[in-house]
Amino acid sequence: MVVRSVETTGPAETESLGAELAKGLGEGDVVLVRGELGSGKTTLVRGAARALGVRDPVTSPTFSIGHRYAAGTLTVSHLDLYRLAGLEREDPALLDDYLGPGRIAFVEWPPDAHAASSPQGELSSARVRVTLAHRGGDRRHICVDELGPSCTGAQ
Ligand code: ADP
Ligand code: MG
Repeated sequence: MVVRSVETTGPAETESLGAELAKGLGEGDVVLVRGELGSGKTTLVRGAARALGVRDPVTSPTFSIGHRYAAGTLTVSHLDLYRLAGLEREDPALLDDYLGPGRIAFVEWPPDAHAASSPQGELSSARVRVTLAHRGGDRRHICVDELGPSCTGAQ
C-alpha cells in the first residue's frame, strides 16, 4: 500500500516529510530508507529524528554502521547499511544494539537494483519503507509505503 508518493524540491521539504513520517512511528518500529547515494536518505532521517526529539546533530555514520541518539525516553537509531549489500556474512548480533524495545530505527539501504540481496533477518520486519530517487537538480521523488511489492517505479 502506497501511503505517500511526493516530489520534494529541496532538503528542507525532505526533512519535513521525514518529520511527518515520524508522527506515525512508535517504539520498536524499523524504517527502511532506500535510494541512491545523495538521494536524501540521511536528510529524511534527520527530519524524522528531529521530530522525535533528537537534539544532537544527525550526521552520516562514517566509522561505524550506525549512531544512536537520545530522544526523551526513546532511542533513535540511525544505521547506514548502504555499502553492506547483504547481511549474510555479518555477525548476527550486528544490529542488536540498534533495534528492539525502546528504539525506533532508520536503516539506510541501497535501491533494490544495487543490493546483492533484500534485507533479511531483523530488518525484514521493517514496517515502513521509504524509497527516494533523483529527479534532476534538487528534486527527489519520495515514496512511503508498507513493506510490499510496490514502489518499483520510484527507483
Ligand atoms: P544519502 O543519505 O541518500 O546519500 P544525503 O541526505 O546525505 O543523501 O544527501 C543529500 C544531498 O542532496 C544533500 O547535500 C542535500 O542538501 C541535497 N539535496 C538537494 N535537494 C534535496 C532534496 N529535495 N531532498 C533531499 N536532499 C536534497
Ligand atoms: Mg546517507
